[in-house]
Amino acid sequence: MCVCIFCQILSHQIPSIRIAESDRAVAFLDIRPVNPGHVLVVPRRHVASFTELEDVEGDQVFDLVRRVGRGLKAALPGCEGISLSLADGEAAGQEVPHVHFHVIPRSTGDGFGWRRFGEQAGRETLEATGALIRQSLESP
Ligand code: AMP
Ligand code: ZN
Repeated sequence: MCVCIFCQILSHQIPSIRIAESDRAVAFLDIRPVNPGHVLVVPRRHVASFTELEDVEGDQVFDLVRRVGRGLKAALPGCEGISLSLADGEAAGQEVPHVHFHVIPRSTGDGFGWRRFGEQAGRETLEATGALIRQSLESP
């Protein structure tokens, strides 16, 4: 038996409130919602990192995120906006090692926030960082 809590939800060993599903992705309610209607969208296959998703899984996960987003805006009168969040790795705060997008309904002044603005970087620093990442993307 897989010990991953989301795999257990997907195989119905643990109950969840399902919202929507497709061949490769499932959406269900987060048990500790930041705001009412906080949804998690996960691939059916156990994959820890979004960087390991197959193309079709990535496509279907994000398709479902968009579908859920449309549903939240239509269903929840107080939903003025949506925050998407994906923690990849422990350093980023990932608690459950199964890829999941948080789709969080937002309203003005709801107090939720995760973004910290850094100091403005110099042009040379940005150029060097950009070159480093571009090189790694270009190498086969
Ligand atoms: P993260 O910290 O990004 O890994 O998020 C894990 C999320 O999973 C948290 O928001 C939890 O509230 C949620 N969670 C944990 N157990 C369950 C469960 N049984 N059903 C629904 N959501 C869960
Ligand atoms: Zn899993």
